[in-house]
Amino acid sequence: MVGRLAAPRTAAGLIPPAPVRELRELTRYRKTLVQARTDEVNRLQKTVEAATLNIAAVATSVLGVSGRAMLAALLEGEQDPLVLAVLARGKLGGNCRHSARHWSEVRQLFARDRRLGQDAPLVFIEIGAARQLRAACHAGDLVCPFPGCPDSRLITRGGTRRDHFAHRRALDTIVHAPERWYHLCSKYLIGDWVRRLFPEARVQVDHEAVDNGQVPDVLVVFPDGRRFAFEVQYAPLTIAAWRARHDGYRAQGIVDIWLFGHIPPHFRAARARPGEAPRFVFTELLEAVELAGSIARWIDPDVRAVRTPLHALGWQRVRSPSGAWLLVETRADPLDACLLEGGGV
Ligand SMILES: [Zn+2]
Repeated sequence: MVGRLAAPRTAAGLIPPAPVRELRELTRYRKTLVQARTDEVNRLQKTVEAATLNIAAVATSVLGVSGRAMLAALLEGEQDPLVLAVLARGKLGGNCRHSARHWSEVRQLFARDRRLGQDAPLVFIEIGAARQLRAACHAGDLVCPFPGCPDSRLITRGGTRRDHFAHRRALDTIVHAPERWYHLCSKYLIGDWVRRLFPEARVQVDHEAVDNGQVPDVLVVFPDGRRFAFEVQYAPLTIAAWRARHDGYRAQGIVDIWLFGHIPPHFRAARARPGEAPRFVFTELLEAVELAGSIARWIDPDVRAVRTPLHALGWQRVRSPSGAWLLVETRADPLDACLLEGGGV
């Protein structure tokens, strides 16, 4: 190595003129720098790999745009593989299926049973049920419920991981973005829940517009004329946009019930000190919902539960250490244990 970095031999006795000598110095120095940089990148790569994070498998380079974004997120304390995968998504190549696919693909716990009608509840795969549902997937009776899914054929997976459905053929992860997938499962779950609770009510999932043209995720119309609109919100939403939709429903005499997604941007755990109850960020949007007299709740279709923020009556409601966020404790209730009353859930 030393020999290679040394100046090439020149003809004996010939000393190049000063400008050439300077240029040679620079070239040699540049070579050393490039080597040092490569060593540094390799060292970084090894460090993150030792921490079982194979950034190289998802990002082109550990110091590329995605790699840097992932490193920055890791330093910030981000541990959610989904978030990291989203950062990596921009750089996904065709041949990095291992980590990338597993990181960003949503674990699908719901399937559509083609033997039933379009409005039928989605089939939820219980823990341990992979084996039992395998035949129905193989026969093509259970398929991916995602609208426009390019290849809806499913298989089941079980074993050491929680039982779930997976596509028979690996798909582009963007097609089933988590927020759209969870939004879909949640509205079917709500529709199913209300139908079982109130067989006398007319329940429409996703396809009946109310008088002002708004299409609720789930519309419930009781025989006595009372109407409830469920909105499942996984996508980002501004306070103004929320208010417009809320006012629209109220103007029609419809009670709107808001269920926010169980993943960011609407649901984020705050870092807890040891011994502290877990707290969650109560965003300005959620605050605006409460200030308007509604209750902002969260839904998690994978555990079929609804979380209610606990702060109304003496519960902890504190500022985050930075002062930027309000933090609340929350309780998760199985959806089946929730009731729909005059003013909401
Ligand atoms: Zn699909």
